[in-house]
Amino acid sequence: MCRHLAYLGPALPLARLLFDAPHSLERQSYAPKDMRAGGTVNVDGYGVGWFPGPVRYRRAGTLWSDANLRQLATTEASAFLAAVRSATVGMPVADAACAPFTDGTWLFSHNGRVDGWPHTVAGLAKTLDVTDLLTMDAPTDSALLWAVLRRRLETGKNPDQVLVELVREVADAAPKSRLNFLLTNGKVLVGTTWTHALWVLVQGQSVTLASEPLDDDPGWREIPDRHVVTAAPSTVEVRPL
Ligand code: GLN
Repeated sequence: MCRHLAYLGPALPLARLLFDAPHSLERQSYAPKDMRAGGTVNVDGYGVGWFPGPVRYRRAGTLWSDANLRQLATTEASAFLAAVRSATVGMPVADAACAPFTDGTWLFSHNGRVDGWPHTVAGLAKTLDVTDLLTMDAPTDSALLWAVLRRRLETGKNPDQVLVELVREVADAAPKSRLNFLLTNGKVLVGTTWTHALWVLVQGQSVTLASEPLDDDPGWREIPDRHVVTAAPSTVEVRPL
């Protein structure tokens, strides 16, 4: 399964979490500690999006071999979302298949897979406008979930509610799916756990969500499975899905 993280708080260089932390996202790409039988490494792609913006950069390949990303990662951001990808078997390895997905307001990442793809979610795909379907970033489960989600977010509904409904809907249609989401608009972070780990760390005015703790800070708390977490620097709310 992919690894992802999101940060919200006082501006800091992207590199702090992507490269400098002891168990940085770079390290989690080649030496993840908790893949739960979903692959062994995350070397098919990577991406990061940050605020103010969002500005998004994503590539197929290995995160550690991209010298341009090292330069970009000196950027200071008050919120960002980053991911490394282990492509689900049968899904294309391409820049556009990498998280974060964005519509210019939100950044989204999916760690997991839709079981029985694509048949199990053909009904969900049918709810999309034909144009949205034809302009999906890539023919992957994550890109479809994003295509559906972005339209639902436009309705102005609470983002945590929208994520919860999508998890339930996909889990009903494809019960063995793994639906671990991260979403941010630069003001709030929302995450779900559905068969995979997510950790939260609050430090002063900052909050970080990550598939694996980035260091040995005793403040990291694990979000229980099948929960949704909504985090802003001063509040972290965790509730069952
Ligand atoms: N299924 C998604 C993809 O192939 C996510 C993969 C993952 O979480 N390992 O891109």
